[in-house]
Amino acid sequence: MDKKIKQSLIDIVGEENYTDSLIDMVSYSYDASEHRHRPSCGVWVKSAEQVSEILKLANREHIPVIPRGAGTGLCGMAVPVSGGIILDLSHMNKILKISIEDRLAIVQPGVIYAELDKALAPHGFFFPPDPASEKVCTLGGNVATNAGGIRGAKYGTTRDYVLGLKVVLPDGRVMRTGSNTMKSVSGYDLTKLFVGSEGTLVVITEITFKINPKPTATTTALATFDKLEDAGRAVSQITYSGILPRALEILGRHTILAINQNTDLNLPEVDAMLLAETDGYTKEETDYQMKKIIEVFKKNNPKEIKEAKSEEEAAELWLARKSSYAVLARIKTHFVLEDVTIPMARIADMLKGIEAIMERHNIQIATFGHAGDGNLHPQILYDGYDPEQVKRKEAASAELFQLAVELGGTLSGEHGIGLSKAPFMTLEHDPVAMDVMRAIKRLFDPNNILNPGKMALEA
Ligand SMILES: Cc1cc2nc3c(=O)[nH]c(=O)nc-3n(C[C@H](O)[C@H](O)[C@H](O)COP(=O)(O)OP(=O)(O)OC[C@H]3O[C@@H](n4cnc5c(N)ncnc54)[C@H](O)[C@@H]3O)c2cc1C
Repeated sequence: MDKKIKQSLIDIVGEENYTDSLIDMVSYSYDASEHRHRPSCGVWVKSAEQVSEILKLANREHIPVIPRGAGTGLCGMAVPVSGGIILDLSHMNKILKISIEDRLAIVQPGVIYAELDKALAPHGFFFPPDPASEKVCTLGGNVATNAGGIRGAKYGTTRDYVLGLKVVLPDGRVMRTGSNTMKSVSGYDLTKLFVGSEGTLVVITEITFKINPKPTATTTALATFDKLEDAGRAVSQITYSGILPRALEILGRHTILAINQNTDLNLPEVDAMLLAETDGYTKEETDYQMKKIIEVFKKNNPKEIKEAKSEEEAAELWLARKSSYAVLARIKTHFVLEDVTIPMARIADMLKGIEAIMERHNIQIATFGHAGDGNLHPQILYDGYDPEQVKRKEAASAELFQLAVELGGTLSGEHGIGLSKAPFMTLEHDPVAMDVMRAIKRLFDPNNILNPGKMALEA
């Protein structure tokens, strides 16, 4: 980093909150994806005012600025591909207000997801999106990526809970969007525009979230199916039954086989496993919902159905699903976790298509995910030190995206676009939509300093 700019950054954040040490630059060079690139320096910020001063300086000098929460993104979203300044927001980690009477919580962006949930628990409330990275990811990162999770079928994603934001524009101006009310139709919805914008338009420095009363009862059951079509039909029929389970998860054959080969869980080796969980405020209510789901399972040739009779049994039923990612991650030297999402009625078609892609490219793909909202996680396992396998992995990824779009789906249900999926944006979005997105980026950030190189916004 240029000496004068380094001194200006230190003047803003203090010596102790500036770093260009090699160890920090290496730490900031990656997230949870396979992408790598070092920044020139990093700063830990404490306030919107500091963010504003840094952005004014960077905008004047045309230096890239990359907002960063916990760096758990799966698509290279926080990787500084053009170098520049890492704006680390993890020290802005205060819960500013919880107001049960107004049904909201106001937080700084560096608060860890699980910390908010912990703070809400004594009030009998919760924050629903539930990403699997909840113990480490930040709420700012969740908003910037529109994170979702297992409860998405019933409760939606982060976007459904953001009422308002305080943000800093690339030129340093500070702006508030939305309101602290449950409803608002006042002007363009800038709040929603910034949700999922991956740090390319603004830096989020404060978030107002809607919160929910926490259901106190759950019922859990699992069914296995020899044929994929039966599982696919069961998912559609659950929707017709009028019951909205809080989780409806699916494990495909190759995930089941991999779990059996690498653990002692001894799962039945079937085409698909469906795990359903209902929630509510009394056991009668959740049992009633589950009875309807089990009726659907029974009509679709299940190999077996297991109903949990206790919390311990429910935890056992969840074991296979909850261990999928970690078990699969250990099988080969490298993996990439995709999150294509298709209309729910096309789940069986997508899983069959994935089998064909696997065979065509002679590569291992194990799929699990959220059948309840059509969000599948095909995890491609490969040896990243073998250029031939890397090539086959890339070809398989491209076909996965193509297939999802052909089935009426989308490149990403929750992980975002970042670097990994930028080359595929035009598969899903028509040229007019791409033009509009690029024009919005230019409007906010004419000098392209905020997280450049992401989401195909520059082509
Ligand atoms: C094991 C594992 C499980 C996961 N499970 C899920 C899951 O179930 N659901 C899911 O949705 N994701 C999941 N993820 C992905 C990841 O945790 C989410 O994308 C999360 O929202 C990223 O938060 P973060 O704080 O790590 O953000 P980072 O990775 O630091 O940043 C992500 C993006 O947000 C931007 N950003 C961060 N903070 C701000 C800010 N304050 N203002 C503006 N832009 C900002 C960054 O520039 C970047 O573009 C998982 C990841 C791992 C490793």
